Amino acid sequence: MTNTKVEGIIDTLQVKAAAAIPQKEGDYINSADGLLYCGKCHTPKETRVNFSDQERKVRCVCECEQQRERQKQENDERKRRALLIDKMRTRAFKDKKGRNSTFDKDDRNNAEASRFFANYAELFNQNSKWLFISGNCGTGKSFFAACICNRVIDKEYSAKFTTIAAIARELLKTTDKEAIYDELSGCDLLVLDDLTSERNTDYIREIIFNVIDARSRSEKPLIITSNITPTELSNPSDIATERIYSRIYENSIIYKLVGSDRRREKLKQNMKEIDSIMNYSGLSAAGKE
Ligand SMILES: [Zn+2]
Repeated sequence: MTNTKVEGIIDTLQVKAAAAIPQKEGDYINSADGLLYCGKCHTPKETRVNFSDQERKVRCVCECEQQRERQKQENDERKRRALLIDKMRTRAFKDKKGRNSTFDKDDRNNAEASRFFANYAELFNQNSKWLFISGNCGTGKSFFAACICNRVIDKEYSAKFTTIAAIARELLKTTDKEAIYDELSGCDLLVLDDLTSERNTDYIREIIFNVIDARSRSEKPLIITSNITPTELSNPSDIATERIYSRIYENSIIYKLVGSDRRREKLKQNMKEIDSIMNYSGLSAAGKE
């Protein structure tokens, strides 16, 4: 390339840079170096470029503009992430109750359980052991499992919170059963809520086995909440449940959730609220005017 050609290119660049980084009100020529400076951050908006025996001044980005650009990129990234997480959460939970079950709403009535589940969520990764949460009705199993699920989604893992009944309904509606099992075995975390010890039909038992087997083969974490006791889990009553229970038993950390029935606590709280409304004495005072 001839010098004139190169010079032409540099001319064009110089003009383009000047258009992209315009001189703004308050910008000034610094008498110390003769370069254009930003009136806000007082750092150069020009730099000297040497070309053959010539020296040119070319516009460059001052520090406050660089900072603004970085901030903008960070904000865009934050928005992109929030949007993605929101989508993942909608896909994971069918209802608002699940999406809203987060550790910050934990009443910490059972501090030990709170700590254990929060830590499990914090330590969660693709190799996490299965977690079998056993407990009676109202001990907060589903709440804690949903809390873990939400925390895991915050960490950008895909998750699904569902029940065997819901899976059975989905399977009945579709001709592509494979797609449903693919999603159940493919997501980073699967939560099977409310696996019961009640006698199931062969059809339901087959679904339970397929889901658990798929999860075991994909070697991905699974959380089960259930009223099946640890003793029942290790001593299945028949062969059909044995092949399900044994897979759960060998892969899981078993956590027995004990404590007061949260629904009964809620009823007590409810009575207190009714009393406080009954005993409200503000009405007569307000009526006097
Ligand atoms: Zn500046």
